[in-house]
Amino acid sequence: MSVDPVFESIRLYARQLKLPAFADYPNVLRQSKPDARFEDLLLELMKRESSSRQENQNKRRLRKAGFPFHKTIDEFDTSQLNGAVSPLFIQELASCQFIKNRQNIVMIGNPGRGKTHLAIALGLKACSLGFDVLFKNAATLSTELCEARDNYRLGKLERILSSADLLILDELSYLSFNRHQSELLFKVISDRSERGSVIVTTNLEFSRWTDLFENTTMVAAMIDRLTFRSSILDMNGTSYRLKSTLKQS
Ligand code: ADP
Ligand code: MG
Repeated sequence: MSVDPVFESIRLYARQLKLPAFADYPNVLRQSKPDARFEDLLLELMKRESSSRQENQNKRRLRKAGFPFHKTIDEFDTSQLNGAVSPLFIQELASCQFIKNRQNIVMIGNPGRGKTHLAIALGLKACSLGFDVLFKNAATLSTELCEARDNYRLGKLERILSSADLLILDELSYLSFNRHQSELLFKVISDRSERGSVIVTTNLEFSRWTDLFENTTMVAAMIDRLTFRSSILDMNGTSYRLKSTLKQS
């Protein structure tokens, strides 16, 4: 079968110019109406190129965010929250205006109350709106920071952490951070102060945060940075896990 030299040139230019949708023009041509004008075809190709770029960007953004699993706002059942968090408020947070306003969210509640679920769901929504998000388990981040410091890469990691539009710090709980770890985490939070949003999930009331950090002198400053113009969500309703188990039995 002979190869159409024009088709080959278009494919070559499409590759050179990084416009893959244009290489697929025979399909657009086939699907177009017989009376389609050149402008209609050109517009269709541009639309396809634009939407495939957006899709690729979204995929890249999602990969970079590092979510441990996929949870959505629609899957989040607000009915078992204790009334302190209204469904309307969750919808408002899902608009991600808090990220534009550089505000923080602190979710406090016992295990199984959907803190991680809601944090991921808000993070996914933010990604879909074009925000750069980073999801980090607090203990893992603390290890990463210590390793980066030991390998002279701390500056680079700190820049990555401060440049995201939204940093999710999950499970600031259980574990207690030694003096060095406390200081490194504190710097991450204070570097973002009023420059970018943070979502923190924890099972500890603020009054018990001194249990978390060996360096207790910076606890008040950390809480101060985190809670400035922020939403504190009391997530202590019925445990969703417990509720599902009871339903099944
Ligand atoms: P936490 O982080 O507060 O310990 P998780 O977010 O890990 O709790 O929730 C535990 C499990 O229960 C997850 O599978 C989560 O999807 C589910 N879950 C918790 N709360 C809700 C909720 N309000 N609506 C839907 N699923 C929920
Ligand atoms: Mg959790």
